[in-house]
Amino acid sequence: MLHKRYKAFLYLFSRDMQRLVAIKGMNDILPPDSARWEWLEQVVRSLMQRYAYRAIRTPIVEPTALFVRGLGEVTDIVEKEMYSFEDRLNGEQLTLRPEATAGVVRAVVEHSLLHDGGRRLYYMGPMFRHERPQRGRYRQFHQIGAEALGFPGPEMDAEIILLAHALWAELGLKDVRLELNSLGQPDERRAHRAALIAYLEQHQELLDEDARRRLHSNPLRILDTKNPAMQALVEAAPRLMDYLGDASRQHLAAVQAMLDAAGVAWSINPRLVRGMDYYNLTVFEFVTDQLGAQGTICGGGRYDYLIEQMGGKPAPAVGWALGVERVLELLREQGRDTPAAQPDAYAVVADAAALPTVMATLQRLRALGVSVQMHSAAANAQGPGSMKAQFKKADASGARFALVFGADELRAGTVTVKPLREAGEQLQRPLSDVAAWAASLQSAR
Ligand code: ATP
Ligand code: MG
Repeated sequence: MLHKRYKAFLYLFSRDMQRLVAIKGMNDILPPDSARWEWLEQVVRSLMQRYAYRAIRTPIVEPTALFVRGLGEVTDIVEKEMYSFEDRLNGEQLTLRPEATAGVVRAVVEHSLLHDGGRRLYYMGPMFRHERPQRGRYRQFHQIGAEALGFPGPEMDAEIILLAHALWAELGLKDVRLELNSLGQPDERRAHRAALIAYLEQHQELLDEDARRRLHSNPLRILDTKNPAMQALVEAAPRLMDYLGDASRQHLAAVQAMLDAAGVAWSINPRLVRGMDYYNLTVFEFVTDQLGAQGTICGGGRYDYLIEQMGGKPAPAVGWALGVERVLELLREQGRDTPAAQPDAYAVVADAAALPTVMATLQRLRALGVSVQMHSAAANAQGPGSMKAQFKKADASGARFALVFGADELRAGTVTVKPLREAGEQLQRPLSDVAAWAASLQSAR
C-alpha cells in the first residue's frame, strides 16, 4: 500500500511539481569538497586548544531584538540583510543569526560566564544574510569566530590577532595583509563625528543615497562606502585617528609593538570602520587581493560597550570572525592541496557467502581505528561485480590496501592484504587475531 502511494507521489512529483532545489545563495557542501571543510575545522580546533579558547554553541535563531540592539539599527545587516519572521504560534519576532557575536554576548550575560574573570571562546557555524549572491558572498555562509571577553588590555587584542595570523600559517595561506585602525572611545568619536558631518554637508551633491540617509544617523559608516564615485570625497574626510586622545593612541601603539615583536606585519587603514556599531579602539581586517571584490577574509575588533548594552555588567571584549567560504576559496586560488578523505583499506568480496565473516572482521578493524570501505554492489550495477570491477573501485577509493575475502582465504580463516599504492608483497592475515595486524593498515592521520 505504502509502496503504491509512494509511486503515485513520485509520478505526480515528476509531472506537476517544480524541481526542488536549494535556495539561491545557499549551498550544499558535498564530498569531496566537504573533506576540505572538515580539515579546516580540525586545524581550527587544534589551534584554539593551544590558545586555550573553548567552544561555545549558541542557537541559530534568536529574537530579532537581539540583533537590532547588538548591531545597531543603522547597519547594512539590520537595515536590509536579516532573515526575520514571526513565530507562527506565539507571534514572537525571530531572526536567523546574521553573525554570532550578539548571541555569544547574550549567552555570556545570561549564564554569568564572566563572574570569576575573563573567558576565551570560539564558535563555528552558518550565518544568514539576505545579500546579492556572488563570488564570496552568499545568503547562508559560514563563520569561525574567536571572542575574548572580560579582558581590557592591548595584549588581548594582540593575542586574538596573532591567533588569526597563526591560523593562516597553519592552513598554508599566503599573501594575507593585516589592516589596523582605532575607532577610539565614544567621546572621541563624537568630536570626530561633528567634524565629519560638517565636512560631508559641504559636499552634499557628491553623496549617494545611502550616504545621504546615513549623514546624521551613522556618518562613520559612509567612510567605508564601496561606491567608486565617492572615493575621493571619503579619502579627504576628517580622520578619526586625528581625534584620538592619549589613552587610545597608547592602546593602539601597544598592540602594534606586540605585533612587531611577533614579526607580524600590519598597516594602518584610516578608513577601516567595520560594519557593526559595537566596535571601539582597535579594529582590524585580514585582506587579500586574490578574491576580487570580496577580499576581506576576517574582520574584528574591540567592543568594550556591547556587554553592558546587552544588559550585562560592563565588561570589555575583543573578537574576530572569518568567512570560511572565502578562506577555502583563497586556498584553492593559491593552489593549496588539502587532504582528501580516503579509507585505509577497501574490502573486496568475492562471494556473498563470505559477507557475515566480512562484516564481522571489518567491524573489529574499525573498532581498532582502521578506516575500511566495503564493496557493495550499487543499485545500477549488474551483479555483485567481478573481481576486476571491485579492484577498480578499490583503486578509485584511494585506499592503500585491498582486503580480499576470497574462497581460499575463507577456508583458511584468513584475508589477503594487497598493497594498492606502493610495491610490496601481499600478505595472508589471520582472522582469528585481527588486533595483531590492524595497525599495519593505518595511515598516519
Ligand atoms: P563585507 O564587507 O564583505 O560585506 P562584513 O563586514 O559584512 O563583510 P563581517 O560581518 O565582519 O563581514 O563578517 C566577517 C567575515 O565573514 C567577513 O570578513 C567575510 O569573510 C565573511 N562574510 C561576511 N558576509 C559574507 C557573505 N554574505 N558570504 C560569505 N562570507 C561573508
Ligand atoms: Mg557585509
